Amino acid sequence: MPATQPRYKRVLLKMSGEVLMGDQSFGIDTDVLERAASDIAEVVQTGVQLCLVIGGGNIFRGISLAGRGMERASADYMGMLATVMNALALQAALEKIGVYTRVQSAIPMQEVCEPYIRRRALRHLEKGRVVIFAAGLGAPYFTTDTAAAQRAAEMGCDALLKGTSVDGVYTADPKKDAKAERYQTLSYQEVLAKDLRVMDTSAVSLMRDNHVPIVVFSIRERGNFLKVLRGEGVFTTIA
Ligand code: UDP
Repeated sequence: MPATQPRYKRVLLKMSGEVLMGDQSFGIDTDVLERAASDIAEVVQTGVQLCLVIGGGNIFRGISLAGRGMERASADYMGMLATVMNALALQAALEKIGVYTRVQSAIPMQEVCEPYIRRRALRHLEKGRVVIFAAGLGAPYFTTDTAAAQRAAEMGCDALLKGTSVDGVYTADPKKDAKAERYQTLSYQEVLAKDLRVMDTSAVSLMRDNHVPIVVFSIRERGNFLKVLRGEGVFTTIA
């Protein structure tokens, strides 16, 4: 039987930096990186146009130093630079297995990658290249969740996929509460009203206002990304 076609034509995958860390307490686990790259390659081969946003939490989070007295804006710029490192690592892992990619940074650094140019990013997608958006929105006081939502809207994505270490959105933290149940679907309003903390409220409301569904799934399982795009497996849809 032919495999089910992916439900979406163009998607943005947001991965937190912590996913890349694997079981380490800091940095990048190369096994995890390679596994993520091969899952992404599998999706690209089906013809889905893909953009990526990776967080920086495995290296640096602005709020942590700001909490210890550093000026918040400076700490946030350090966080944005951490996301550039992750973007370059993923780019290298993808190109090693033959996936064409471009990194575009919201903070121009021309020796390292392209600057963010909307029309150029769209062209890359049309040509089947994976576009990795780095440095968030290039502005402090934001997170990469909000950056992912903004880029998903700007790129005209059909869905924003949030790849985490949990396989969806639960009524409570499934790691702490055995009675926690997973939602199959949720409305944006429910996420905001119940303060479910799937993504930042600004990211959720941006997706609500632009009618882009958010799909929350576990990126830790091998092959799950493509399965979820086909509507198979376990995930929560917010629409
Ligand atoms: N950041 C920022 N503006 C942005 C995106 C990110 O200031 O548009 C900074 C912020 O300090 C944040 C850090 O970059 O803590 C890393 O991103 P994030 O915490 O979202 O990473 P994740 O939790 O997804 O790994």
